[in-house]
Amino acid sequence: MGIFIIGKSKCGLCNDVLGKPDDFMSFNRTFVGNQADPMAFANDGAFHISCLEEHEHGRAILQRWGEWLRHREPTPCAVCGITPPNHADSFSLGSMTIDPNSPLWEFNYTRLHFRCVPTWPHVKRLLKVLAQLEAAGVYRGALASTLMRLCSPPG
Ligand SMILES: [Zn+2]
Ligand SMILES: [Zn+2]
Repeated sequence: MGIFIIGKSKCGLCNDVLGKPDDFMSFNRTFVGNQADPMAFANDGAFHISCLEEHEHGRAILQRWGEWLRHREPTPCAVCGITPPNHADSFSLGSMTIDPNSPLWEFNYTRLHFRCVPTWPHVKRLLKVLAQLEAAGVYRGALASTLMRLCSPPG
């Protein structure tokens, strides 16, 4: 997560110093998991609101960040249905895509206990989709290797 110093940190779009807090937005998380997504540059970045408004993906980025924030509270695990009391033993697939026609759409914000991943009925299908999208050059990220690691027996 980035550290922003008002009056020192620079806008990721125009490279000018970020001044008044009202004038800029900082996204202090990796909220776009797909590194090949055209919005991934916003991860951990800070930008003048005016620069975002001029950028082709700026408004969508602000919407997506708002959506991501609304999904921060733990939701029930897709396998066991138990809502984790905290973030320590589960994870969310996060904002996989904003395209309802993408095969990743159905996986947006799916929450899973780490321990439940091996018994998740959709894990093989998601791995296949990720491999296809990666081969097509429209997906890049660590999710597939994380899922495979969680599915392989320890030792
Ligand atoms: Zn700027
Ligand atoms: Zn679970």
